[in-house]
Amino acid sequence: MAQMDDLPPLREVIATHELRAKKSLGQNFLLDLNLTAKIARAAGDLSGCDVLEVGPGPGGLTRGLLAEGARRVLAVEKDSRCLPALAEIAAAYPERLEVINGDALEVDVSAHLTPPIRVVANLPYNVGTELLVRWLTPAEWPPAWDSLTLMFQKEVAERIVAQPGSKAYGRLAILAQWRCEARIVMTLPPEAFNPPPKIHSAVVHLNKLDAPRFPADAAVLSRVVAAAFNQRRKMLRASLKGQAPDIEDRIRAAGLEPTLRAEQVSIEGFCALAREIAR
Ligand code: SAM
Repeated sequence: MAQMDDLPPLREVIATHELRAKKSLGQNFLLDLNLTAKIARAAGDLSGCDVLEVGPGPGGLTRGLLAEGARRVLAVEKDSRCLPALAEIAAAYPERLEVINGDALEVDVSAHLTPPIRVVANLPYNVGTELLVRWLTPAEWPPAWDSLTLMFQKEVAERIVAQPGSKAYGRLAILAQWRCEARIVMTLPPEAFNPPPKIHSAVVHLNKLDAPRFPADAAVLSRVVAAAFNQRRKMLRASLKGQAPDIEDRIRAAGLEPTLRAEQVSIEGFCALAREIAR
């Protein structure tokens, strides 16, 4: 690949700014700019979009997003040691990078972004699932963002895209796939990161659907799915006993057998169940 920008290689950036990786912040950095450009491309056409990046670190992915043509990048980074390196990127791409030094779980970014919005991040593993759940459960649907392109531990990525009947199928799969199209677009070995984590990683791309695949009240669906998977080895008639006194009738009215286990029920089935329980 031709050189992405005139900035120094990431190893040099890390050495200059003494960015020794901190485990407590989930710091496993991507140093290969070819790879960060590839992740940026997996997010789709960024040219007319604002991109929210959580945890830019030394800025490898940030540079990929900017070089791939993002209109603007808003990067939220908790570790203030990274700010000088990010300031160099901001100077190389005038008016296109804004950095907020803060905790992504606490900062309200809505005022800083203009649609269309794409979220792209090599997430810190300790907060990745929590952020994903928040992005998937906004007060209103459709959400402010168009797509999420996120790095997870491979095992978490597999839970997001899992199909009924598999061990990985559960709350995360239903939450993600009820209102998004979700797929794994890349898997990465530990050696892709510095320092290398113990596990493999994967990038998941989620495209929002304008409306849910099947009608259901989000809160009821979430409650029913949680109850069913909290006791995933039990039959629905047992795991959902607390949801309604006549639960077996309601399960049948939803077109399901009360003897099914949670992992055998499709998203359509859970939505039918949520509608029957809400009736
Ligand atoms: N994006 C960089 C890359 O790909 O090389 C760094 C990724 S590293 C896996 C995760 C980054 O998230 C680190 O820079 C870390 O400091 C930052 N981070 C950790 N917890 C955070 C939080 N709660 N809010 C914002 N950033 C956080």
